[in-house]
Amino acid sequence: MRAHTVRRPSSTIAAPPAGLRASLWRLAEALATPLVPADYLDLFDPLREGADLRGRIVDVVHETEDSATLTIQPGRGWRGHVPGQYIRIGIDVGGVRNWRAYSVTSPPHPPSARGRKDDAAITITVKAIEDGVVSNHIVRNVEPGALVMLDQATGEFTLPETAPTKVLFITAGSGITPVVGMLRSRPDLTDVTHVHCAPTAAGVIFAAELRGYGDSGRTNYIERHDDEHGMLELADLDELVPDWRERAAWVCGPTGLLDAAEAHWAAHGLSDRLTVERFRPTIIEPGEGGAIQFLGMGTSNASVMVDADGATPILDAGEDAGLLLPSGCRMGICMGCIVTMRQGAVRDLRTGEITTAEPGDNLPIQTCVNAVAGSCELEL
Ligand SMILES: Cc1cc2nc3c(=O)[nH]c(=O)nc-3n(C[C@H](O)[C@H](O)[C@H](O)COP(=O)(O)OP(=O)(O)OC[C@H]3O[C@@H](n4cnc5c(N)ncnc54)[C@H](O)[C@@H]3O)c2cc1C
Repeated sequence: MRAHTVRRPSSTIAAPPAGLRASLWRLAEALATPLVPADYLDLFDPLREGADLRGRIVDVVHETEDSATLTIQPGRGWRGHVPGQYIRIGIDVGGVRNWRAYSVTSPPHPPSARGRKDDAAITITVKAIEDGVVSNHIVRNVEPGALVMLDQATGEFTLPETAPTKVLFITAGSGITPVVGMLRSRPDLTDVTHVHCAPTAAGVIFAAELRGYGDSGRTNYIERHDDEHGMLELADLDELVPDWRERAAWVCGPTGLLDAAEAHWAAHGLSDRLTVERFRPTIIEPGEGGAIQFLGMGTSNASVMVDADGATPILDAGEDAGLLLPSGCRMGICMGCIVTMRQGAVRDLRTGEITTAEPGDNLPIQTCVNAVAGSCELEL
């Protein structure tokens, strides 16, 4: 009879004692210097458990001339999303890592048979905007196989667990993305009116799908093209959607549309029925600019002086001067861009509020939504 070698499942192989493991890891660190062992593991298995959360782009599909859907396989540790939420991705363009937010357009996956959320891929859909660093890179250059950094999904632009009886979606341009995520995953929405605007008929992202929902009766779909119908005026809602006041509304699109929607719903005393998603902050009239001193830059801890006007976020002013600064959503939500103001004054571009710091104050400020007001000294 032939002898069999019986292998135990790897999960039952006894792990070395914790003290020995720590010693082995320290030895590996010493051998790997100046890199650390994790850097080598990243080369072979960047999506592994315990690594910084990353995703691999596994497919790129062009939706329109200037938009594309990326399918991303998230790494171990991805915790899933609720329809309407967004993720931040960190992507290298020209050797610089840029972080931007994108709504998840795929439906959430139930946990796999292994109880994991990270077994299935997710999608985001990006529209290239004029002079946009990341959006143009994604739409024109990115190819399957590329790795991106990921953050867990977040955001409040979501539906309640129990679907409202009557829903109104108003979307424009790339503002369709969070809403298509909801339409794809919530069959319990039974009475939906959807007004969608795009510059032209050819520019409608997900055109066939949205029109299909309309044709099948899933939504009452009203598509408007700016070149034919002009920009949507919210006063037209009385005619387009006569029962709009009875509907719980979710609106996503350019700043002008969102400002107008907030004013319209407020004027009718219905603000509590409206939820909006902003892709960029509302900027009020600019103030006086000045000199920004960035302290602690690079490995030599250099100090760099940059002049900026009062309309330019400090983050943009620094990046335009070639500095690598912490960044995130670029609209004041994620706190990924916070630096310490040692002294000086900055102005919040959303509210006009001035924050001042005396030497010794050390105030945290968000560089993506503040401009310099006179002068300021910032430490990274
Ligand atoms: C919560 C959230 C969800 C988002 N979801 C999506 C999404 O699903 N799909 C998508 O395509 N985009 C989405 N965005 C916008 C996205 O994060 C980027 O702002 C956008 O891709 C532009 O980045 P960029 O690097 O190309 O432009 P940048 O190089 O940062 O900016 C270039 C120029 O365009 C201006 N600009 C920046 N952002 C916008 C904008 N959104 N619209 C118009 N002008 C702008 C800048 O002020 C600058 O003048 C979302 C943003 C947020 C905050």
